[in-house]
Amino acid sequence: MTHHIVVLGAGYAGLSAAKGAARRLRGTGVRITLVNAVGHFVERVRLHQLAAGRPLKELPLARLLAGTGIDLVVARVTAVDAAARTVRLDSAPYAIGYDTLVYALGSGADTAAVPGAAAHASAVATYQDAVRLRERTAGARGALAVAGAGLTGIEAATELAESHPGLTVHLVTDGEVGAGLSERGRRYVRRALDRRGIAVREHTRVSEVAAHGLVLADGGEIPADSVVWTAGFRVPALAREAGFAVDARGLLTVGPTLRSTSHPEVFAAGDAVAAYGPDGAPSRMSCQTGLPMGAYVGRGVAASLTGRALRPLRLRYVAQNISLGRDDGLTQFTRPDDSPVPAILTGRASARFKETVTRGTVLVLRR
Ligand SMILES: Cc1cc2nc3c(=O)[nH]c(=O)nc-3n(C[C@H](O)[C@H](O)[C@H](O)COP(=O)(O)OP(=O)(O)OC[C@H]3O[C@@H](n4cnc5c(N)ncnc54)[C@H](O)[C@@H]3O)c2cc1C
Repeated sequence: MTHHIVVLGAGYAGLSAAKGAARRLRGTGVRITLVNAVGHFVERVRLHQLAAGRPLKELPLARLLAGTGIDLVVARVTAVDAAARTVRLDSAPYAIGYDTLVYALGSGADTAAVPGAAAHASAVATYQDAVRLRERTAGARGALAVAGAGLTGIEAATELAESHPGLTVHLVTDGEVGAGLSERGRRYVRRALDRRGIAVREHTRVSEVAAHGLVLADGGEIPADSVVWTAGFRVPALAREAGFAVDARGLLTVGPTLRSTSHPEVFAAGDAVAAYGPDGAPSRMSCQTGLPMGAYVGRGVAASLTGRALRPLRLRYVAQNISLGRDDGLTQFTRPDDSPVPAILTGRASARFKETVTRGTVLVLRR
């Protein structure tokens, strides 16, 4: 019987896994189906741009998959029945059986982290989040508070401040802005935030999001007409509900070749995967993690069917690229384990570098 590979999620990880497997298994009769909630590829790294009112290029999945032989199913996965090896969907064909499953459903904003965030805050983690935020802030004046000052929070705050000069933007974090950056990197980001008039509140814990803004753990408040929640990401509950081995955050646990530790017929890649960084540390949720993982899983799935062995994946990082509006940015160079070194690239040069990398990523996925 024909072996059926089903890939869940057509983000950076799932798309590269599906295309990599298809290329290697061409002519073998193996079927590959890619399931995604929407019919286009979402460039998540540009969602803060979309939220700020800058339309993204249309990238229909059908076009990205042309000539690959991969079947595309546009539907939302509602469950995985691991015993029956079947994926359940919210629309036709409603169920798909698999022999090998690639789980690459990415992540979303963790709006369950504090009371009120789900009801009152927007996010920039998914396409729908970014569109909603764009609608809420179109022509807005008054105050906007961004909760969370990791890379996504910094990018969202600077982009929104630049595109909405009438808004007073607050950036609030319980730690330090850009905590994972070098000293020089943090200083550059602080100056960029100051230049845009963004009010930074560090070491300030948010305990609730209310209709009128942020309620703080120390009893204070930051009044805001809109709140953007970027303080943490969470993964869908589908892996846990399927009975796949997951960690405390619901991320799928995998061995050194990205196969599920509980279900060897399941591979996983991208934000949905736990503990694959150096020394077993959680890997950073990023394209720089998801893309090589996806490409590796594409090779791994093909190798598992052709009886070849694969060396464990070694992730090696080079830099983190942070946009600070359209013409400014920070490239933080890193050691292979993703820890920062003092070297940075800043300003227009960094913004151009990031744009080149982002376009290059899409070119790789088109290939
Ligand atoms: C605003 C923003 C800026 C970022 N900037 C950078 C950056 O500069 N550099 C960097 O390296 N990383 C960046 N990241 C992180 C990066 O985008 C993610 O780590 C990356 O997208 C993860 O890839 P993935 O394939 O695992 O998941 P995703 O890209 O999220 O893809 C998951 C796919 O699964 C689909 N899906 C989810 N649930 C279901 C379901 N139930 N049924 C069907 N389909 C489903 C989604 O529609 C999506 O297509 C940024 C993230 C954000 C939000």
